[in-house]
Amino acid sequence: MFDQKLHDSLPETLRPLVRMAGNLWWSWNGSGMSLFRDIDPQRWDLCEHNPLVLLRTAAPERLSQMAVDPDYLERIQRTVARFDEYMRAKPGTPRSESLPTWARQNFPQATADHPIAYFCAEYGIHESLHLYAGGLGILAGDHLKSASDLGIPLVAIGLLYRQGYFRQRVNVDGWQEEFYSDEDFRELPLTLLRDETNQPLTVEVPIRGRAVGVQIWRAEVGRIPLFLLDTDCDRNEDIDRWITAHLYGGDASTRIVQEVVLGIGGVRALRALGITPHAYHLNEGHSAFLTLEMIREQVTTGVDLDTSVKSVAQQCVFTTHTPVPAGNDTFDAALVQEVLGGYLTEVWPDAETVLGLGRRHPNDTLEPFGMTPLAIRLSRSANGVSKRHGEVCARMWQQLWPDVPVDASPFIAITNGVHHSTWVAPLMRRLFDQYLGADWALHADDPELWKKIDEVPDAELWRAHCLLRARLVAEARYRAEMQWREAGESDQMVHGARRLLNPDVLTIGFARRVATYKRWNLLLSDMERAIAMLNHPTQPVQFVLAGKAHPRDNEAKRILQQLMQWKERRELRGRVVFLSGYDQYVARRLVQGVDVWLNLPIPPLEASGTSGMKVVVNGGLNCSILDGWWIEGSDGQNGWDIGAAYDLPARGRLVADDRNAADALSLHDVIENQIRPLFYDRNREGVPRGWVARMRASMKTLAPAFSATRMVKDYARVYYR
Ligand SMILES: *Cc1c(COP(=O)(O)O)cnc(C)c1O
Repeated sequence: MFDQKLHDSLPETLRPLVRMAGNLWWSWNGSGMSLFRDIDPQRWDLCEHNPLVLLRTAAPERLSQMAVDPDYLERIQRTVARFDEYMRAKPGTPRSESLPTWARQNFPQATADHPIAYFCAEYGIHESLHLYAGGLGILAGDHLKSASDLGIPLVAIGLLYRQGYFRQRVNVDGWQEEFYSDEDFRELPLTLLRDETNQPLTVEVPIRGRAVGVQIWRAEVGRIPLFLLDTDCDRNEDIDRWITAHLYGGDASTRIVQEVVLGIGGVRALRALGITPHAYHLNEGHSAFLTLEMIREQVTTGVDLDTSVKSVAQQCVFTTHTPVPAGNDTFDAALVQEVLGGYLTEVWPDAETVLGLGRRHPNDTLEPFGMTPLAIRLSRSANGVSKRHGEVCARMWQQLWPDVPVDASPFIAITNGVHHSTWVAPLMRRLFDQYLGADWALHADDPELWKKIDEVPDAELWRAHCLLRARLVAEARYRAEMQWREAGESDQMVHGARRLLNPDVLTIGFARRVATYKRWNLLLSDMERAIAMLNHPTQPVQFVLAGKAHPRDNEAKRILQQLMQWKERRELRGRVVFLSGYDQYVARRLVQGVDVWLNLPIPPLEASGTSGMKVVVNGGLNCSILDGWWIEGSDGQNGWDIGAAYDLPARGRLVADDRNAADALSLHDVIENQIRPLFYDRNREGVPRGWVARMRASMKTLAPAFSATRMVKDYARVYYR
């Protein structure tokens, strides 16, 4: 998207910034981000780090000041040159063939004419774009960025939510309140696509017998176009304009129509755009209706159902992200009939047969229609997101292949990874540029590269990490001060924010959705011991927490409230901080600043988990239950396991099946007996040598294996060929 008016209104030397703001490339290139921020850091925070809003609202005197600052102008030139060079290798760009990318060298099958079509209901690319709720979206965002870096021809399809996911506020009673705010799409780096007559390019989807119009917006994620579908168009009835209002906001009847728009609308959008994909990647089952649309396309040309099912399955691959039932949508057959009635008989005259495609047992008419069975059946391959999760899926969905034994299940595993350039702190990025080489991010999956981390002196690595911890502490204080001031608290209280946390204290981060299986309550299970641990006279510990409860999950909200009340206890003042509004910004601050990242799921419900992978390049260490990715990651030297070989009988007072109590005990034991002593064991320069050794071990073993570079290459090798 390019805003000519904004461009013309800026001082000439600043105009290249408008072009940069139109492509989200800047969001994973530290120098791009700081170019916008440095125009006016305070305003940058106020406008939620949205470059277009910043440029539109910045004070003219400030702009004219920057417009003649030679250092600043040189930074613009350097960054814009890097951006232009990056974009020259975009698949399909004239003369881009001569520019080497990983995909061009290793993956000639997919071309700009036949790209991969990647479907997902959410995308977490940057905090200024409210298109994500949590892990799934962040993973999809990281996937696009890595695919862009690797030069993979991929187009992404999603939904454009007018009000996004809910924002979180915690009231004085510690109770979570939700609010939504309207997006102004003109303030986002989006272009509404138009046809030859300059009308919005629109496709139609069938919903409850109506033809609902869907318009298409385009965002640029580096070299990857992201097409976002939106039903808020003039021609639609009011009720249909709200279909794409909220991400995961409504009940089953809202969900199903959103999924119709994503799946059926997505395929029709690709056709309208003239894109013929080489393969379709269904990232989670929300988009699985796309397979029905592809069957319908074939059936209407006279192909029979079985043949078209086989042919569609050859073109699709499916990734499932959670074994938790709430993450695997099912709809009553009656609801599917109500929403898609006539359409189903277009797919195949006998609608019951179509419904059977979404059931574990196709002939069981009482079984609801599941998006996961549909996606599995209509894909040539399906995968879980860690080795353990792959095994869990094989058992969970075994009924779909009644004749195949579990150990021969077609389910495979491709373990998640994170896009390091997005999550690494600029200070660490500098160190890597210097010691690993300027192109380290392109080779982030190479274990040999990360061995060079040994060349960074202990003191230098430690100092960088300490500065990041101090940054997190400063951020927590600043946020508390702002919140308390806004709430009308006394000056004394507001100034108290400056005593929150301590930049020299062992800092443990815990940020995740407040859901039962994530076990926030383990933190509170032995309050007295926790208080003693946090207030240890010579080796104290502090916690920084963040997370959202689902708006309709009152149990989760009660857990959050207990925690809020607990942290207000006199003995804990300043040792436990909760950062409200967990989003990508809060996540970056946290994963960049903590010493230890905690994860406490009930196995095997954490399919992978990705937040722990983000701390690695920032020098943070993982302390986790052995579940999801950590089973593959942990080697005993690069972090800590909780609850693993816990010797229950030796503890006497425990009942063997009381897993929560056992894990809580283990959690305290590991922190008090292993983590804490190692952190505070310093040499004469104040460096904890043993700790730094673990930081290195963590970077060397985990950074390459859990990079999105490795993940996307795996998808390309296994799936996209
Ligand atoms: C990384 C991330 C997540 C996913 O973290 P999990 O480890 O899966 O809990 C969720 N929300 C945000 C904002 C993130 O950055």
